[in-house]
Amino acid sequence: MIQLKNSVQIKAMREAGRITGEALLVAREHIRPGVSTLTLDTVIREYIERQGAKPSFLGLYGFPGSACISINDEVIHGIPSKHRILEEGDIVKIDVGAAIGGFHGDSARTYPVGKVSREAEALIAATKQSFYEGVAAFRAGNRIGDIGHAVESYVKKFGFSVVRAYVGHGVGHSVHESPDVPNYGTPGHGPRLCAGMVLAIEPMVNVGRSEVVQLSDGWTVKTADHSLSAHYENTVALTEDGIINLTEVETET
Ligand code: MG
Ligand code: MG
Repeated sequence: MIQLKNSVQIKAMREAGRITGEALLVAREHIRPGVSTLTLDTVIREYIERQGAKPSFLGLYGFPGSACISINDEVIHGIPSKHRILEEGDIVKIDVGAAIGGFHGDSARTYPVGKVSREAEALIAATKQSFYEGVAAFRAGNRIGDIGHAVESYVKKFGFSVVRAYVGHGVGHSVHESPDVPNYGTPGHGPRLCAGMVLAIEPMVNVGRSEVVQLSDGWTVKTADHSLSAHYENTVALTEDGIINLTEVETET
């Protein structure tokens, strides 16, 4: 069942969203060659806890980190480790959630480590823009399929593909609520969108084919063809007055 949020609840979700967005910015400041993904995870956890919030992902379904940190052909759910060291030219995906006041925020970014390839730059830019294409379709009267169609149509222009095995979702008292928000879809199909919906819209985009595989660690998801993958996510509320991007913080450029 889709849990609609009233204006008081959406206001409360702004706080969880702000902390989530700020945690990503704090992590970004630490990205450079030689830094481990565990260091990034620690910085994120400490920031969230200093704000009086809790990392949403820590212990969620048994996940051992506060953030999912995935490098290059890893798509999502990378486990932070002191043995995973960022290298010049990598792209690193950081996916964070923070909970406070009974609500969660959920947001992900893909950051370059030093100088990256033109292909990586193009992938990161297209993935970010595909999020905004999806948000533009997040309007009362539209349907879930309109969001996914907008995302996939955009990235296909670049020859990229969307991951189909993992999808966006509702956000609220739980990090993952109904409905599913695929990054593909048929216009006019799926649940109808209306004010009070809060969705994590999160394109996962591959340079190559859309197929992914899960590693034997039980978590890390990689592209099957080893091509680069990028991720861009925000928690977005639809209100009577339009969209509120709950996890986008103003200082972000
Ligand atoms: Mg996320
Ligand atoms: Mg999510």
